[in-house]
Formats: sequence, structure tokens, C-alpha cells
Amino acid sequence: MSELPFDPADPPARPPSSCLDELVWNLAYRLFRDHRPDQDGFCITCVPSEFSPCIGRYLAARGFLVSCGLPDPVSIREVL
Ligand SMILES: [Zn+2]
Repeated sequence: MSELPFDPADPPARPPSSCLDELVWNLAYRLFRDHRPDQDGFCITCVPSEFSPCIGRYLAARGFLVSCGLPDPVSIREVL
């Protein structure tokens, strides 16, 4: 697998130069930030509590990839 143009554990708020769709990157970043884990490993946003990574984090990860023109490893049918 090729190297990602960003650190998936700590993606930057500003899109990398290889980003093709800044709107999708920015939406993914907001999801990533809003669905971060608390000190016990639970998402700070999801109610009822969900262990992190929650669905918001998975969607954020997919958004980062798609915004950079990288293959989305999950089809939408598997998520919904
Ligand atoms: Zn969440």
C-alpha cells in the first residue's frame, strides 16, 4: 500500500497539497475532531456512548482518503 499524504492518527486541519476536494477534507476534519476519544476511550460526541473509533471517526477517515483521490476501502452499504 502506498504511503498516505497525511498522518491518519493526526491529520492536519489544513488539507495537504495533494488534496483534490478541500470541502470534503474540511468536513472530514470536523468529524475527526468532534468524534475524538475521551480519557477512557469513549467518543466525546456519540450518544449513547460509543467506544472510539466510532462511526464518526470511520466516516472522517474515509473523507480524508476520498478528498485526496485515494480509494475508499468501504462501500456505503457496509456502513449503513
Ligand atoms: Zn463519535
